[in-house]
Amino acid sequence: MIFPDAMLGMLGGGQLGRMFTLAAHSMGYRVAVLDPDPLSPAGAIADVHLKAAYQDREALQQLSDSCAAVTTEFENVPAESLRWLASHCIVRPASEAVAVAQDRVREKAFFRDCGLGIAHSAVIDHADDLVSVEANLFPGILKRARFGYDGKGQARVANADEARAAFKKFGADTCVLEKLIDLACEVSVVVARGADGVARVFPVAENQHRHGILDVCIVPARVSATLAQQAEQAAMRIAERLRYVGVLAVEFFVTKSGELLVNEIAPRPHNSGHYTIDACATSQFEQQARALCGLALGDTRLLAPVVMVNLLGDAWAGGVPDWRCLFENPRAKLHLYGKHEARPGRKMGHFTVLGDSPDAALVEAMALRAALCPAFALTAA
Ligand code: ATP
Ligand code: MG
Repeated sequence: MIFPDAMLGMLGGGQLGRMFTLAAHSMGYRVAVLDPDPLSPAGAIADVHLKAAYQDREALQQLSDSCAAVTTEFENVPAESLRWLASHCIVRPASEAVAVAQDRVREKAFFRDCGLGIAHSAVIDHADDLVSVEANLFPGILKRARFGYDGKGQARVANADEARAAFKKFGADTCVLEKLIDLACEVSVVVARGADGVARVFPVAENQHRHGILDVCIVPARVSATLAQQAEQAAMRIAERLRYVGVLAVEFFVTKSGELLVNEIAPRPHNSGHYTIDACATSQFEQQARALCGLALGDTRLLAPVVMVNLLGDAWAGGVPDWRCLFENPRAKLHLYGKHEARPGRKMGHFTVLGDSPDAALVEAMALRAALCPAFALTAA
């Protein structure tokens, strides 16, 4: 076990790394962040900020020399860097697990091996593969196999011609063509598995997206107990099969016919788990620190129904939002990530609202958002 005040390493300095750093600091750990961006949100509050590329051998050496263990906050960190680090210090999660999450083709094959339902799909390696592709995959979504996030590297396609055009636009890299699902809703589960193999799930979150980006997250998800249990068990199975150590998020589709399909995994805390900071006995970031340090995992119990709302740069269009309504509401909590420039689509922060029920929290959260950013509320999807 690694105890405070050991130094913990974080690959990536975005908001996830920042919230990890806050949690680790409150437990008495020190944190070293590797991120080339001199203005990185986590780097700004870390004990050490190594401003270098993720492949920079010298920086990786410094990280492994100074840290008791290293983890990551984003899945696109070069697998080679993780492997190199793993031969020098403790790295959790392991690079093999991260590699599965980095590639939609491998990910889907892995879900199938786990016996879990997934959307009907086909691998597209060459434009020619689209000639013989099954017609019932349309309308579909063409997704790049690697390096997609927040709906980037995806295109909705009505037919093979559109798919071909999108494939070309994505640089003819391997893609997955996925049938468009008639969604009842989307849910996700954040699961943590400790070095001792004990896993704990956080309550199931119901996720609403806007323009391919997570917008609102409602907990507990308004789905049947059976479906929630199914999602929790699927997440546990995935963590178990990967022999995962750390925090892992699993995203699911719920079809109109009530079927649960696994969409994708993220080998790190997740935007849909931010509610745990204010509404659970243990946050996903404290859990990440616990798993990384080989400690027992914390209690994941939900203390109150909660809604989380993402604050994208769009909310700054009319100037800095007037935060007073959030601070004046005793059930609301504001979290800002310390990003200097508010660009459209950029995740700047989030707020949570606790309620007596998920529906009550949602009503209050939507009223707060409308008060915070009236223009944004008017364009609500
Ligand atoms: P993120 O990083 O935000 O999780 P991503 O770019 O990795 O996103 P996905 O999770 O695959 O991509 O897709 C983003 C969103 O697009 C989904 O949450 C869902 O709302 C919608 N979507 C993706 N695939 C499908 C599908 N086959 N049918 C219907 N909707 C879909
Ligand atoms: Mg996703």
